[in-house]
Formats: sequence, C-alpha cells, structure tokens
Amino acid sequence: MAKKNKKTQKNKSKKTQPKKGFHFEYDEALESTAVVKLKKKYGLFIGGEFKASKSGKTFKTENPATGEKLAELALADKKDVDSAVQAAKKAFKAWSELSGKERGKYLFRIARLIQERSREFAVLETLDGGKPIKESRDVDIPLAANHFFYYAGWADKLDYAFPGKKIKPVGVCGQIIPWNFPLLMAAWKLAPALAAGNTVVLKPAEQTSLTALLLAEVIQEAELPKGVVNIITGEGKTGAALVDHPDVKKIAFTGSTDIGKTIAKAIAGSDKKLTLELGGKSANIIFEDAAIDQAVEGIVNGIFFNQGHVCCAGSRVLVQESIKDEVIAKLKKRMSTLRVGNPLDKNTDVGAINSKEQLEKINSLVAIGKKEGGRFHEVDCALPKKGYYCKPCFFEGQTPASTLSRVEVFGPVLSIMTFRTPDEAVKIANDSNYGLAAGIWSEKSSKIHKIASELKAGVIWGNTYNKFDPAAPFGGYKESGFGREGGLHGLYPYVEVR
Ligand code: ADP
Repeated sequence: MAKKNKKTQKNKSKKTQPKKGFHFEYDEALESTAVVKLKKKYGLFIGGEFKASKSGKTFKTENPATGEKLAELALADKKDVDSAVQAAKKAFKAWSELSGKERGKYLFRIARLIQERSREFAVLETLDGGKPIKESRDVDIPLAANHFFYYAGWADKLDYAFPGKKIKPVGVCGQIIPWNFPLLMAAWKLAPALAAGNTVVLKPAEQTSLTALLLAEVIQEAELPKGVVNIITGEGKTGAALVDHPDVKKIAFTGSTDIGKTIAKAIAGSDKKLTLELGGKSANIIFEDAAIDQAVEGIVNGIFFNQGHVCCAGSRVLVQESIKDEVIAKLKKRMSTLRVGNPLDKNTDVGAINSKEQLEKINSLVAIGKKEGGRFHEVDCALPKKGYYCKPCFFEGQTPASTLSRVEVFGPVLSIMTFRTPDEAVKIANDSNYGLAAGIWSEKSSKIHKIASELKAGVIWGNTYNKFDPAAPFGGYKESGFGREGGLHGLYPYVEVR
C-alpha cells in the first residue's frame, strides 16, 4: 500500500508544476504513508482483545482522496454489541472503585502514548478521512492527547469538581461519534467518562474507524484493565443496538440532528442519561470596525477548515454593509491562494470530501443555492481526477430565508449576508434552528461582549474562530443539542450527584 502510493506520487510530481491557486504536489511535501502499517482486516475491540464479529460480516473503509479501499472492518451486530456491553459491565466495579489517582495515571499514559505515536495517528486520520495532513498533525492529534491530559488531571479531584456533594459514576456508557474528527471525538467522549469512573462502549463512524482502532492498540499498550473501553465498528444499526441496550446507562452522541432526534425518541421514558452534540449553522459576524485582514482569515478558517466538515463551522457570514465590497474582494483574493488537493501534501489547505455520499449532498445543496439565484463564486482550481473533491465556494446576496442560510451543508460552502446595525446582526444570527457557535469580529471588546450576551449560541469566539481547548465547554442550544463536552461541565453527564 505504502509502496504503491509512493510510486504514483513520484510519477505525478514530475508532471505537475506548482501553479498559484492550483492543485499541485511536491515529493518532499508529501507525508510518507510508510509510518502506518495497515492491516487487511480489523476486528472489534472487546474485553481488551481484538475479535471478529460473531456473524463474520465485514464492511470496507476507503481513502476518500482516491476512492480506494483501505481495509475491511468487522461489522458489529446486536450480539456483538451485547458482548461489548457485558465486558464493560464486568469491568465497571473494579474501575469505579479504583482511586481517582490511579485512574488518572492510566489516562496520562494514554495521552503520552498518543503523543508518541502522533505521526502514525496523523497519517492514518488523513488517509481514512481525507483531511489535510497539517490539520491532523497540528490540530486533531495534539488536541486528542490534550483532552486525555486534561481529564487525567480531574480524575483525583472530583471532590473539588463537585464540592459538598457525593458523586458516583453512571455505569456503562454508550458513545457514538461522527466521521469529521474521528480521534478527537473519541477523546472528547472517552476521557471524561473514564476520569469519572465509568466504563465505555464506543462506536466510531463507519467511514472513519481506523484511528479509534489504533487508539484501542494504545489502550492495550497502556494496560488499561480489560473491558473498561470497548470499541465496536459498524453502521447505524450498530449504533441503534447500543442505544437500545438495557444495560447502557448513558448515551453520548455527536452527529446529525436527524439521528440525534431518533436517539432521543428511542430512549424516551428509559432511565438513560443523554447528551447530544448535533448540527449547526453558525454566524461569523464581521463589524465595520474589525481588522479586515484578520477577519478574512477568520472567515476562511471558519468555513474551509476540515473542508467545512465541522459542526461549529462559520457557515453564515454576516458582514456589515459598509465593508461588504472590501471583505468580498479580499476574501476572493485569499481564496485564490487556497491549495486544494492531496490531503497528504503538507501544503494542502483543503483536502478530500469525506465520502461520495457527502460530496453528492454538498453538490445538491450548491445546485439549490444556484437555483435560488445567489451570486456564486468558487475557487478557480483543478481538482484531482480520482477521489471526492469540492471547490471552496460562497454565495453572496443571501437572505435569512435562503436554503444555504438555514440548512447545514457540512462542506466548503459559505452563505454571505449583510446587516446594517448590531441589533440586526443579532436578529439574523439568532434566526436559525441551530445554536452551536458564533464568531464576532470588532476592535471593541465591549461590543464583542455585548453581542455575545445576546447570541443564542453555545460557543462564541471573539476575533478568532474554530479554536478549541479541553478546558472550554462545548455544546449547543436548540437543534444543536444539549449537554456540554470539555471543561468541568464535561464531567457532569458522567456522574450521578447525590
Ligand atoms: P452523518 O449524517 O454526518 O453521517 P450520522 O448522524 O448519520 O452522521 O452518524 C453519526 C454516527 O451515528 C455514526 O457513528 C453512525 O453510524 C451513527 N448512527 C447512525 N444512525 C444511528 C442510529 N439510528 N442510532 C444510533 N447511531 C446511529
């Protein structure tokens, strides 16, 4: 696999020359895939061991940058889900009774092992998910390690986290994660649950399970007691079986709003706890007194980071009318420098769309935007012939009623609207079914604070966008879900307070 890639990359690099705004590849710029030892088949991680699914069924995972198959993964059905839950149940008593200090040591160990194997994690994340290697390397993997470090620190300080209260872990937690930040979402879910003394069954997304399975290896290496973490691969049905299992006491889900609603209905009336981190259509608001060049960087980072596969993406830009022309001109210029293409190229800014289905969804929404008559602009660049790619683009002259101002695209597609007054900006920003995040750009911090207090959004950035920190709680309002992950708040869903 690695050898074949190297060969094809070499041939290409001879032919392609760097051209501004065009896809290009340099040999020396390509991250080597040799660091990853892909297996042909991956098993389920249950009770500390890798096993085939009981039915023997598998499914494939592919590299969205080429459309080629990477590996076969075990497809967990109801019986496998039950085995994983039973393993977690068996491990619960000893793990929950272990001192916080000891639990913390395991989490520190996992964090350090992720750091040690960070290059392997980064390349695998990029191969399986299509995100630019510079993002896997500099954002996803370090943040995942930091999340374990952060919650390792809480494990022996739970008495301080809940002063005057007696707390107990909840029990077996079922955690279901999406394909956009595979390892990072696994870390967001596992670290607080383990710190608080719970045991877990984690189901990664079917498109991107490989780094979760590498994490299972790390968990083995860290000698975490068997059954404390179980990782089962599969599709929506696997997730549904986990949600329905009577011995699962808490469900943590990150994914689409539709599936979030299905899960909420499925567990209504049961004693299961639930947190949902769902979609978004977040407003990135640019005031006329903002530092325009920085704001343009913030727009680009807000929507084109991770190909726009970001639940808190700044997918609606609200720009004050007086600076609209300047912002649009600068944005077009900046977008012309974006390098779209091979995710393993260290210079790539926008990689591959995660799957064929997602590319089709994005294309159909872009077609609707065009039909509705929005002024459309896309980066003028050549896309690789194989794989799933989309040119970064925006629609101007949008209204709050436009489809692209209301529907989450989950791709590199921006909707731009204008406003005249701060009140109008707040009104438009809050006119959404979602309420996950927002960005505010202004020279006046008093203005940023005032606007922030009026926005119905869980995460608000001032003069920056898409910055994440394990100490900062993350979560939404309205159809963006409920519950918080990160920070002290991230521990609440994993304890019973008495
Ligand atoms: P997307 O539409 O972006 O692929 P989904 O919400 O469908 O996101 O998927 C997020 C995660 O939820 C994935 O791990 C997926 O397998 C899982 N999933 C899908 N359907 C269900 C379901 N009915 N119950 C539980 N989990 C599900």
